[in-house]
Amino acid sequence: MSWDDAWAITSSTMAYTNHTLLPEALERWPVRMFKQLLPRLLEIIYEINARFLGEVAQRWPGDTDRLARMSIIEEGGEPQVRMAYLAIVGSYSINGVAQLHSDLLMGGLFHDFYELWPHKFNNKTNGVTQRRWLAWCNPDQSQLISDNIGDAWVTELEHLQKLKPYAKKAAFRKKWHKVKQANKQRLANLVEAECGVVFKPEAMFDVQVKRIHEYKRQLLNILHVIHLYDRIKRGDTANWTPRCVLIGGKAAPGYAIAKSIIKLINNVAFMVNNDPEVGDLLKVAFLPNYRVTAMELICPGTDLSEQISTAGKEASGTGNMKFMMNGAVTIGTLDGANIEIREEVGDENFFLFGMTAEEVAQARGHYDPAAIIAADEDLNRVMKLLRCGHFNQFEQGLFENIIHSICNPHDPWLVAADFREFIDAQQRAAEAYQDQDRWVEMSIMNAACSGKFSTDRTMREYNRDIWKLTPVAVEK
Ligand SMILES: *Cc1c(COP(=O)(O)O)cnc(C)c1O
Repeated sequence: MSWDDAWAITSSTMAYTNHTLLPEALERWPVRMFKQLLPRLLEIIYEINARFLGEVAQRWPGDTDRLARMSIIEEGGEPQVRMAYLAIVGSYSINGVAQLHSDLLMGGLFHDFYELWPHKFNNKTNGVTQRRWLAWCNPDQSQLISDNIGDAWVTELEHLQKLKPYAKKAAFRKKWHKVKQANKQRLANLVEAECGVVFKPEAMFDVQVKRIHEYKRQLLNILHVIHLYDRIKRGDTANWTPRCVLIGGKAAPGYAIAKSIIKLINNVAFMVNNDPEVGDLLKVAFLPNYRVTAMELICPGTDLSEQISTAGKEASGTGNMKFMMNGAVTIGTLDGANIEIREEVGDENFFLFGMTAEEVAQARGHYDPAAIIAADEDLNRVMKLLRCGHFNQFEQGLFENIIHSICNPHDPWLVAADFREFIDAQQRAAEAYQDQDRWVEMSIMNAACSGKFSTDRTMREYNRDIWKLTPVAVEK
């Protein structure tokens, strides 16, 4: 086959979906290794690159900086193949997995390619399947929904919209609340069996489960827990909302600080759970071996869904959608699909906090966490507890790496920067939970507005814009 025929087939067959902006996930393969293992493929990549750079040179004559920026081969001490660029050059469609993520690809990482081929770029916001993440994992809530609006939502999730008026009906709210409490008891049984910690379903269940990563900021979550512990110890407990905090997730084997964060969560949990002065005001558990079968029990039993990544870093998130469908209210940043979740459910049913992706980008180079800590009495007290080794009394120096990362002016995750707004948003959530009528209304509204976040919608859009396949009717 001629090159032209082969390239025409390739570049009208391949479509590239990018799943993250984090540099460690954008593969770069050393040319030296490539040459040894896949010599013929490297020749072909060189040919693709030469023809591609010819096209760039024709469009921007004399712009050699641009040629170097866009080349599939990154020159330098150790030349590397930029795999994402190869994917872009060889594909007829390039998409991100939430609107903000696609916008950041077009405006940032892949901007040069967007200028060359704007028509190739599009967005496909992720979804989750309601068959697993509602019908299967939450039979009681599913039954209650179907009893009132029918079961068309199982194949057309937008039908959940019909639940909206029910949020105002006291009798329906009562049933919804009863289902949630039973699901919380189911989750409490798992937590007691796996972690040996007793969660009482009267408390607010505050849950963050996802891979452990600095950008997801489990650290910010545990700083809030330490702050609550500190408030209890200093007697600041008027109008307190009892809270059970569950954090779960796995760390990559070589990710040392992620493992330190798990250790810190466990040590804080030990201190909090064994203090009679704290009692049922606050419980903390770290769930090991977080996995899909665990999430099937966790999302139905959650009141507050923690989606607190540094803005611009979470491509989409899908945990956020599973929680929403199951009637959890989100506390979150303007990141990934959180933005679209908030658009769907309304600001009054979402606890928003934190810097925007734009503000995060602007903070680079002039971030002063020491000044933030000094100016915030609550954060200052939390840092004092960490620094004096309160949570590692027989493990000296264990959390030095964590303390250093919070105080580092180059901390890319800006943990200290978002602390104050996070604490305030958590306080708003705690107050909202005390008005159970209002809280249950928010919970119902979250489920009712989750119709957009079905994989059915996502796949219809992939098919409409990218695959162009003819749908086949399913015979029952
Ligand atoms: C949904 C899910 C994820 C993704 O969660 P995010 O909060 O979007 O990171 C990860 N692991 C498991 C087991 C899940 O069920």
